[in-house]
Amino acid sequence: MEGDNMKYNGLTGKVVTPGDPEYDLARQEYNETIDAYPAIIVYCMNPCDVANAILWSREHGFRLRVRSGGHNYEGYSTGTDKLVIDTSCMNGMKVNNANDTVEIQAGLRLLPLYERLYQFGYTFPGGTCPTVAISGLVLGGGIGLSTRYLGLTTDSLIEAEMVDAWGNQLTANHCCNPELFWALRGAGGGNFGVVTSYKFQLLKKVNHITLIRLRWDNNIPARIQFLRTWQDWLPCLDRRLSAFGGIYKLGAWVNAFFYGQPQDARQILAPLLHIPGITLEYIESVPFIDAINMIGADYPRRDAFQQVGRFVYRPFRQDELENLIYIMDNAPSNRNSSLRVYSLGGAVRDTETNATAFYYRQANDIMAITSSWESKEEAPLHEEWVKTSFNYVYTITRGSYVNFPYNQTPNYEYNYYGEHIRRLMHIKKEYDPHNIFSFPQSIKPPS
Ligand SMILES: Cc1cc2nc3c(=O)[nH]c(=O)nc-3n(C[C@H](O)[C@H](O)[C@H](O)COP(=O)(O)OP(=O)(O)OC[C@H]3O[C@@H](n4cnc5c(N)ncnc54)[C@H](O)[C@@H]3O)c2cc1C
Repeated sequence: MEGDNMKYNGLTGKVVTPGDPEYDLARQEYNETIDAYPAIIVYCMNPCDVANAILWSREHGFRLRVRSGGHNYEGYSTGTDKLVIDTSCMNGMKVNNANDTVEIQAGLRLLPLYERLYQFGYTFPGGTCPTVAISGLVLGGGIGLSTRYLGLTTDSLIEAEMVDAWGNQLTANHCCNPELFWALRGAGGGNFGVVTSYKFQLLKKVNHITLIRLRWDNNIPARIQFLRTWQDWLPCLDRRLSAFGGIYKLGAWVNAFFYGQPQDARQILAPLLHIPGITLEYIESVPFIDAINMIGADYPRRDAFQQVGRFVYRPFRQDELENLIYIMDNAPSNRNSSLRVYSLGGAVRDTETNATAFYYRQANDIMAITSSWESKEEAPLHEEWVKTSFNYVYTITRGSYVNFPYNQTPNYEYNYYGEHIRRLMHIKKEYDPHNIFSFPQSIKPPS
């Protein structure tokens, strides 16, 4: 053991390597299909541990990956033979009531974040999965059931602390390192350095909201009506309402938060409520944190899946809607394959497109193709369906959401970052010219 300890001299924090009893658990990602064997996982407790890990990896020739919640769909936060810098133990937060701000460490997951903020009376524009960490979410944009009312998660960010490729600790905000700050808001995941903490402006206090859950179970005709109604309804939708929904082989569903009263929600939802055959309807005022917990309860602890998300800029024609239904009819699973829709618009458009790296701000919504499976043997069938569906959906949409990454995306730089990619490459050159923060779909410095 002593020899081993010597081998990792210079690394601080908790170091886990193959052979350690906790290695198998430590190498797991949320997506069970990711089966990587990192050489070293360093659980960092503070920015110095992060800096030591960066310097050590450079000195010893290890490639790096950066991980917080481990939810990246393609496993870009880990890798075989890599040194993984893991920030999940850095999970504190400090609320400042006097100026409505909060400082959050990089590894904090969403459920404890929401719970703590709710104790102080605040809502937060985060995502829906309780175990996603703040880092991946905010650095890629961040959408959820408060997005149309409060903006993307990244729109509330006012400052970040980052350790760069030389182990320096930097502050990024509108005054210090403003270009880096711009890049971190939409393109920061694993590309420029290891972010260790964030400061957010808290926008609203909240007590109750209206939680909405609509289902058209075992109702095949409702699917096309749902998609048509959704796209007609979304452009003029009251911004206090944000919704995630979708269709599957046998029906459709919507989950939504409304920052108002149930009776007003019913009026706003009327077009959807008129789709025949609603099988379950929940439109009730509940404490904000209960709504978070009820939606969060839908997520399994881990899952084997593939998902890709594309930005939708226009309503689909009848023939396109029919093609989407055809895709669904050919899905490998009755319930675990779906075409999902995530509302954008509202407050997302209050920020100018060039103000942050998040490029596809003017989209109406995101359409995701998703499929999950129980056993390894089923995987190829599901992956093939996702690929075929992606090939079609790609032709009727404009760009891809970097937080729903897909390794088959052509020209991924443009699909994730649009016209912003050139500026991002220059920022990359400034902060990581030797490209030590890299993964299969990372931003490269210009050659
Ligand atoms: C079940 C599930 C539900 C989801 N729901 C939503 C949702 O409602 N809304 C939404 O917008 N997204 C959602 N997502 C997508 C999610 O936002 C992304 O997967 C996000 O990147 C995960 O962040 P993480 O820190 O948990 O993952 P990780 O895999 O740890 O990291 C994701 C990316 O960020 C990088 N990264 C991680 N930590 C740091 C750091 N400290 N500094 C720099 N880079 C870092 C990684 O290298 C990687 O590229 C969901 C994902 C899953 C699996």
